[in-house]
This record gives sequence, structure tokens and C-alpha cells, in this order.
Amino acid sequence: MMQNLSLDQLVGLVHAEKHGPLDDIEISQIAIDSRNILQPENTLFVALKGAKFDGHEFIPELMDQGVKAFLVRDDFELPFSLTGQACLIKVKNTLKALQELAAYQRTLFKGPLVGITGSNGKTIVKEWLGQVLSQKFAVAKSPKSYNSQVGVPLSLFGIDPGHQVAVMEAGISKPNEMETLTAMLMPQLGIFTNIGTAHEEGFESMQQKLEEKAKLFVYSDFIIFRKEHILISDYLKKNFPSDRLIEWSDNIGSDYSFTVKKEEQSSKILLMRPDLRVFTFQVPFSDEASLENIRHVITAALTLGMEPQAIQEGLKHLKAIDMRLTLKPGCNESLIIDDTYNNDLAGLRLALDFMAAQRPKKRKVLIISDLLQVGNTTQVYAEVGRLLEFYGIDYLIAVGEDIQRLKGENPIQQEFYSSTEELLQNLQTDVFDNDLILVTGARKFGFEAIVNRLQQRIHGTTLEINLNSLTNNYNFYKSRLKPQTKIMVMVKAFAYGGGASEIANHLQQLKADYLAVAYTDEGVALREEGIRLPIMVLNPVQESFIHLKAYQLEPVVYSPGFFRELAKFCEVQQTHMKVHLDLDTGMHRLGFEETHMDELIGLIKANPQLEIASLYTHLAAADESEHENYTRDQFQAFDQMCAKIMENLAYKPIRHALNSAGIAKYPEHQYDMVRLGIGLYGIEVTGKYDKQLKPISTLKTTISQVKNLKKGQTIGYSRKGIMPEDGQIATIALGYADGYDRRFSNGRGYVLINGKKAPVIGNVCMDMTMINVSGLNVKEGDEVIIYGPGISLKELAERIGTIPYELLTNISSRVKRVYYLD
Ligand SMILES: *Cc1c(COP(=O)(O)O)cnc(C)c1O
Repeated sequence: MMQNLSLDQLVGLVHAEKHGPLDDIEISQIAIDSRNILQPENTLFVALKGAKFDGHEFIPELMDQGVKAFLVRDDFELPFSLTGQACLIKVKNTLKALQELAAYQRTLFKGPLVGITGSNGKTIVKEWLGQVLSQKFAVAKSPKSYNSQVGVPLSLFGIDPGHQVAVMEAGISKPNEMETLTAMLMPQLGIFTNIGTAHEEGFESMQQKLEEKAKLFVYSDFIIFRKEHILISDYLKKNFPSDRLIEWSDNIGSDYSFTVKKEEQSSKILLMRPDLRVFTFQVPFSDEASLENIRHVITAALTLGMEPQAIQEGLKHLKAIDMRLTLKPGCNESLIIDDTYNNDLAGLRLALDFMAAQRPKKRKVLIISDLLQVGNTTQVYAEVGRLLEFYGIDYLIAVGEDIQRLKGENPIQQEFYSSTEELLQNLQTDVFDNDLILVTGARKFGFEAIVNRLQQRIHGTTLEINLNSLTNNYNFYKSRLKPQTKIMVMVKAFAYGGGASEIANHLQQLKADYLAVAYTDEGVALREEGIRLPIMVLNPVQESFIHLKAYQLEPVVYSPGFFRELAKFCEVQQTHMKVHLDLDTGMHRLGFEETHMDELIGLIKANPQLEIASLYTHLAAADESEHENYTRDQFQAFDQMCAKIMENLAYKPIRHALNSAGIAKYPEHQYDMVRLGIGLYGIEVTGKYDKQLKPISTLKTTISQVKNLKKGQTIGYSRKGIMPEDGQIATIALGYADGYDRRFSNGRGYVLINGKKAPVIGNVCMDMTMINVSGLNVKEGDEVIIYGPGISLKELAERIGTIPYELLTNISSRVKRVYYLD
């Protein structure tokens, strides 16, 4: 919640002109997203043009909702009928103006601001530092990883007058971005977490990357870094005065020396202070990355004047947090949104937004703890009350002291508890039935126990789907296309194994234009899950015509015979249907051939009840260069067939030919639409843009048992596995019935355990597989990655002579799908 501004002040701050009637509104909120505006009359909507949307397009809709003030590009005009009904502040560049407003808000904040940059760990360091500092201060921090040119301004608007310290992160992907972030953030204290050695797209060299990131600190009083990161420490020492540098190290001789003693799951960190006093911190991690992050946090907290005892108190509540919002199947068909690491208003907003984007269930339930780190308690809970109303929460379960203020504020079912234990004693899972349950609480409330109670028990194997990666991949393909080209996404075969309804729902939010499924049933299921996008059905059968109509599905028509049947059905039913014509230009699967053209044209003319929504063809070998000439002939044949049909049509159908590989290789043939398939799921079959895509799915299971075997002992059916040396095997809870291909038997496949490769030994069984884990020091219950980041599906597919498509779509439906959003 920013400090209020009058419109006149605002206009002055962005050096603009005001157009429109209103001059006396107070602005207390700045929004860039049209979907979550709580107090429209006090909101300034900033219209940004992004890769996906142009904010200007939403202005009429927002005026309807009651928004009165807009920051817009100088060439923007309201539609004639709305002229003069809203106040437009016109500027050349709305992003720049947003940043200027943020810079102004920053000047109003008098407490210290900590700015964090680096290649890895920014978000974790920010979250942990915020958590530790909240033992002593009211802390504002950027929500999740809002660290970009747009994210940083939004983070700054989240600072309110009650806050005492702000912790913000700054992320850049190319030169010249940091200056803008620095001008807004002006951090007094900086943390440079580390610098990755990997080449980053957007930077010419390591040196350039380093210089750019370090620009965050040009105005800082102090900069924290680790001595062992030689590149960073050399650079900072050369370019910044030494009295501004705070160096920590594993060894003595730095400003702070920390020695680490690792234990099983936790570690002790010994701090040697410059005055030689020693303090021991106990932390719940033993992995290198966490230990580095935590030492940045301790150093920063000490610099801000916290006592070691208070820091230790804050560290107790940290966990190796997974900051992602997670969807988990819950009891009685409910769906749980797990956000058990949230403690502020900005995070709550994001979680509620995420909840709103899920498929509707019976009720919206919010289980929430006191928010920590709040500035002005009264204001903050008033805002929480408004959020509950805005997001239509039906049932509130609140835990803590401060949150009792909400009692009776909203006319909804509500329960209040003073502690998590008290709630757990009273929590009956059978009160939930097909509900959407958001569980959001500050770390110290230990809400994991609640999620645990509500969660449906699942078999050890899960397929995790990262919806952010999916968005990334979608946007990558979109960036290869002209803005007006439509995208149809293939969600056939359970969205290539990923789970059709969740993925379709996400695509609906991304504003994909069309979906396609293989069979009518798949389309019906999507409609029943509330998917409203147009859906094409590749392979409808006659028995399903009635469903096509009832569920507004659009069939593919691929032969004169099929055309006649469908036309007759529509005639008898006195109805009309949109259809898509498959033109066979060389795939030789389904489709009209050149020789059918005259007959087809006759049929189209005679049957106006079938509207030709699109004409398409499918490429037989788009991913293989050796068949380039064949592919080009396919385009040519397609052009000719389309021309013939369109000469005889009074309207213009959509034309489309490219699949994922086609978009990568033949973007010049994008026509009016493309059909995106495997690329969305993170696999770039041509290999050309591997780096730009992210894998979206991770298949995981756990170790059920570990056995010690002697050299020569045999393993599994037919005694195919033979122990090469004395050692250990592990049995994992996954077999060919889950979709783990039997061809991975006997060392052809391998899995990752604690980041290390372990080969399959013996034959894959129906529900289990044995792995050679000799020397890997694993234990029962350890997580096993079958594929995902670190093991590429492409490589696995090659090992057994198949294609990634097959591995993806083979994952059995008994494997639970779990969806993440960062
Ligand atoms: C499956 C399919 C696609 C998508 O192919 P990808 O190689 O996965 O991109 C496109 N068009 C048709 C007709 C399909 O059947």
C-alpha cells in the first residue's frame, strides 16, 4: 500500500498532461493487471504493452469496473463513445513513467533498503533475510521473485509508512537494465550473492555481466559479498572504496569468518567476529547453496544491527523452502493450494490470484495465519477483509492473535483459533467436499501440518508439472510468430501426459486461441472442467456427433464420406457446425487429397450448415533437414488446395500447417495459425532452440528399500541383473505399469538420486525397478528423479530407440500429477 497521491501530484511526477474531467481523486493503488483491482475508484491503471497483452486494450472494461484514472501512451485515444469519461495521463513511455512513480515512492521511505543481486539465490536470500529481520523490524519485501523492470516498481509500491526495513531483489538479463533498477531501489545495503560461470544469453562476457550487476551498488553505503567468489571480490575491491565493502569468508582474515560444521540434516555455523568473540548459529540445512545463502543473511542482519541471539531465533523457523505455490490433491476431491511460506499481504494477493485462476470448485476456503511483518495492523487487516470479499472466499479459518480483527467483518462462514495446535485438534477433514482450499501461513505457524492432514495420501510416484516453464515455452513460440498469428495448442493424449484439464486451464489464462484433442471424449472432459476455448477434435467418430454438438466441439472432416455423414446429421438436427478440413499433402494419414477437390467444393456449396472454420495440413517430416524439399512441396500443395477451396467460399477460413518443429524451422509458413504440441511441453525436436525451452515435467519416485548384495548375486526376474561387485541396490516405486519403459532394463536406463546417476540393474518389473546405488550412500525414502531437469527425455528416448513423445504420453494415469507455479 503506497502513500496516497493526488492526480495532480502524479501528473507532475511523470511530467505529463492530463486529459479528462476528474481532478480530485486520491490514488492509493497502482495496478498493471486488470484482473485484480480492489478499489477501482482509487486506482491508477498503468497500461503496459507486454509480449502477450497490451494493457490499453483493457481500458474500456476497467472503466466499466469503476477505474477512473489511467496512465497511457501519448497516442492512445478512448473509443468515441467513452471520450471524456476517464482521466488519461499521457506519456511517451508508460513503463518509464511507472518506474518514475516507483522512484518517487522510494524517496518517501526513510528506513534502510537492502538490494540483492547475483546469479543464484536472490529470492531465497531475500525471503530468509526478511524472515530473520522480522524478529526485530517491520519488513517490506518484494513478493516472490518480483525483480524485473516491472516487478521492482510493484515491489516498491508495496512499502507502507509502517515499514522499517525493505528487502528487494534486482534481476537483469541484459546490459543497461541495472541502471533503471538502481535509480528506483537506491539500496543503502547491497548483497552480491554469487556469479554463475555459465554463459548467459544477453551478456557478451563474464566481465560485462559482473559490471552490470555491480551497478546496483553504486550508491550503497555497504556491499556484502563472499571472499571465495574471486571474480566478485576482485572486481568490488578494484572499483569500490574499501570502507564500503563487507567481506565474509570460510577462513579468518575477513570482516566476518564463518566456519561450518555439517551434521546430518543441520549444521552449526561458527561466527568469528572481528573482535574475536565467537557465536554459534544452528541452521536446519547442510547443503552448500543453503549454507552460502544463510551466511549472506547473517552478515546482512548483523550489519543492520541485529544481535546474534535474535538472528538465531529467526533462523529457527527457516526451512529449505520451496517457494512455489503448489497444487495438491486433497481429501474428498478437494484441491489444496499449498502456500505455507507466506507471511505478507503481497504474497497473499498472489496466492488469491492463483486461486481465482483455478477451475471452480464448490467453495473457496481460506486457511490463514496472522500476517507477519505488517506495518500498520489496522490498515493491513482492513485490506485482508477487502481481499476476502473481492476473491469471493466462502469459508475462512483463521489462526493467530492479530487476525481476530477479521471476526464478523465479512458475512461468511468463519472460525478463529489462537494456535495451529488448536485448529488441528478441531479440524475435521469431512467438512471439506470438492472445495478449493488455500492454506497460507507464516512459517512459524507450521501450516505444513494442516496441509498434511488435508492431503490425499498418494503413492510414492508423482509427475510434477511446472506451469511457469509451460508459460515460458508458450511465450517462446509466440515470439517466433507475427502478433496476429493464432496459436492452437494440442492437448491430445492427456496433454502429452501432463494432464489435460489443468494445462488447458492454464492455456486459457495465457489466452491461447484454440485447443485440439484427438477424440470427442477428451473434448467433452475439457468442457466439463469449464474450458471455454474453441476445441478442435482430430478424430471424431459418427457415434459422437451428438456430443460434438452438445459440447460445442469442432470436428475435423477428412474425407468426402465423412463430410456427407456429418452434413446429414446437421441437416436432420436442423443445426449448424464449425468444421476443420484436413488436407493431405504428403503425410498420408487422414485428409482430402488433390483428386477430391472438385467433389469437396461441391459438398461445401451444397451444405452451408457446415461452416469451414479452417483448412489445414500436417507436415510429415518438419524436424528433419534431409526432407526439406518434401516439406516445401507440402506447403506448395497446401497453397494450391487452399486457393481452390477459397475461390469457392464467401468467407475466409483460418489456414494452418506448422507443428512445433515447423514453427522452429519454417516460420515463414505460419499462415493464420500454428499448432503447437511437444514444444510447449519443453522438448525442441529440431534441437535448434533447446536452450530457450524449459522442461515442464519431472517424474519422481522414492526408494522403498535398500539392500546389500555380494558380487555375483542376481537381481529380479529371470535373474538378469548380476551384481558386478559387492555393493548396494535400491528398489524404487515405479515400474512399467507406471509408464517406465521395460526397455530401460539392465543398465539401459538410469535415474538420479541426490544428483548422482544410478543405473537400472535387472529387468524393470510391473510396479518396481531395482537400481545399482553402490557407493552413493542412499537411504530408504530418498527422492529419485526419473526425468526432469538434469535428465533429459530426449536422451532417455534415444537410449531405448524411441522418441520423447512416446515416453511423455506413456506415463500412467495412476501417477499423480502435481502442478507448480513459482
Ligand atoms: C499432434 C499434432 C500436432 C502437434 O505436433 P508436435 O510435433 O507435437 O508439435 C500438430 N498437428 C496435428 C494434426 C497433430 O496431430
